[in-house]
Amino acid sequence: MRTVVKSHEVAHLWAHQTQLSARTPGNMSFDGPDFFSYSTVIGTIVTGKDGRRAYLVSDSHYSVSTSSHQNDMRCAIPSGAVVYRVPGVSRGSTRLGDAARIMDEWTRRVSDLLEQSARSRKPKNARLLAEAAATVESMREFAAFMGLKRVKLPKLPGTVEAVAAAVAAEDARKERAQRAADKRRAVEFAKRLEDERARLAEWEAGAGSYPDAYNLPTALRVIGDTVETSRGASFPVAHALRGLALVDSVRARGEEWRTNGHTCHLGHYRIDRIAPDGTVYAGCHVVPFAAIERIRPALQAAAFVPPGRLEYVELGGACDDCAVAIANDDYTGMDEDAAARVRAGIERAGHPLSVGDEMGFSWQPCAVCGGLAGNRHAVGYLASAAA
Ligand SMILES: [Zn+2]
Repeated sequence: MRTVVKSHEVAHLWAHQTQLSARTPGNMSFDGPDFFSYSTVIGTIVTGKDGRRAYLVSDSHYSVSTSSHQNDMRCAIPSGAVVYRVPGVSRGSTRLGDAARIMDEWTRRVSDLLEQSARSRKPKNARLLAEAAATVESMREFAAFMGLKRVKLPKLPGTVEAVAAAVAAEDARKERAQRAADKRRAVEFAKRLEDERARLAEWEAGAGSYPDAYNLPTALRVIGDTVETSRGASFPVAHALRGLALVDSVRARGEEWRTNGHTCHLGHYRIDRIAPDGTVYAGCHVVPFAAIERIRPALQAAAFVPPGRLEYVELGGACDDCAVAIANDDYTGMDEDAAARVRAGIERAGHPLSVGDEMGFSWQPCAVCGGLAGNRHAVGYLASAAA
């Protein structure tokens, strides 16, 4: 007979009493009817007055590892067995199955519960009273099972039925209150959504500055050369167009786009992800494609870009002068010759140009004005995508 067994085995050997004792390499063991965690009995097997077996399991809380032993033990008890959850014993004690001790402990608990109940208000008092009543019921069953003589059960104020009725009435009142509150909240929320929809529609049409429509999907609108979101963010139309071209290409390919290595800035914001259906994720913003599509005509008109699906045609790197001229229509920082060269380059491009991210130093001449090596910015233009 093996006496050192695996942890899941020891509880089963105990529960079925197939051998006298066993232990795990850890700290679970049993010796006859007593099941130990370390040196404390956490379960035992007793025989009732009619010869039936009952499992007594400690309902006390111990350390984390003992809690897990308690769990293993309870799981090993065959279903349909008689089980009593009884007050536990202190660390190191082996008196778990002592019926007189159990009845004394239960009596003490009931008197504590009744005392607390008397000091509490509704509905807590009813709950404590119900727990006391349940404990007295366990005492009655356990005493009968064990055939204990001269048992004195604690007296409850009123009958067990009266206590149960008080608890049931309190539960019913709570449930009614909960249902009423749920219904009120649902009505309030529906009203709030209706208000938000109305405010959002006005905002989309150009009114107000912030629609306060947090329960609705993010919406967009174009005001001058700026795109605004219903969450209170804004970014330039020029950036929005580059974003739109990216969304169009994602939808055309049907593949998700993520910002690894590539970035697409929208003012201070950055697109994190574009779903194959065109939904844009940027920080806390989730912008449905429908919201993007709604502003497409305004967006493309604002930048004199032809209508329809877009494609971003990258020209290459533009010098600092060209970048400033394209982004801000600002020629003040350059001499007359440079300004003329930049103007000619922009005209030669034949499309409204837009500037993207900074690319750093390059030996290549500027893609717009043909200027010498230097710092470069991505530059390109938006065109209708080929059908
Ligand atoms: Zn240039």
